[in-house]
Amino acid sequence: CGIVGYIGHREAYPIIIEGLKRLEYRGYDSAGIALFDGKNLKVSKTKGKVADLENRIEKEITKTGNVGIGHTRWATHGVPNDVNSHPHISNSGDLVIIHNGIIENYESLKQELISRGYTFQSDTDTEVLINLIEDVKKQENVKLGKAVQVALNQVVGAYAIAVFDKNKPEEVVVARLGSPLAIGIGENEDEFFIASDASPFLEYTKNAIYLEDEEMAIIRRHKGVKIRKIKDDSLVDTYVQELQLNLEQ
Ligand code: GLU
Repeated sequence: CGIVGYIGHREAYPIIIEGLKRLEYRGYDSAGIALFDGKNLKVSKTKGKVADLENRIEKEITKTGNVGIGHTRWATHGVPNDVNSHPHISNSGDLVIIHNGIIENYESLKQELISRGYTFQSDTDTEVLINLIEDVKKQENVKLGKAVQVALNQVVGAYAIAVFDKNKPEEVVVARLGSPLAIGIGENEDEFFIASDASPFLEYTKNAIYLEDEEMAIIRRHKGVKIRKIKDDSLVDTYVQELQLNLEQ
């Protein structure tokens, strides 16, 4: 399973699809992508291989957009099928998530959300998480980063996630606990890459931040990366590593 994301000045689509292919070695049963082109949030997903996703995208959506996230799924909750594939969208249609890992207490969170009127299309734990984030955002009237943090503090489980709000497409929020997550930093902080390991973005940048467990990052175009501890909100110094290119790989 794997995650890939991009926010910047390039077309996100080829970066994400090629990135997903580089992460295929991690194993998966489904794949999906969300692209935002400044107007529309476009999602395409399918059971099967990244090659199946590419075929589907040709028929379903236009491949434009400078913000996007892509996912390969290894199903834990809900069988491998198109609907259970990621990305998942919140009830409002505004928030979109990809997730590797497990939300162990998703059932009780789901019941709570259902009692407040939320509906679910998939059988996944992940769709519960994105609606929990939406609920916190609305109830507490907070920004996306804060909503992600509050929601994650209610969650038991493991995750690498990437979330964005189509109304705020200059920003992507990521977090990790138990699943790897790397952030590639482009020149002048004009573009950022997100991935399970650095292989999807090595050809674009050698500068990367590896999130530690229990950390989240708010990635803003032109404004950089802010890392916080999920538990107590404390700021973490960003440590940017210079990656070595191994030519034999
Ligand atoms: N638990 C999530 C699901 O079953 C994510 C699985 C994964 O790590 O890909 O959809």
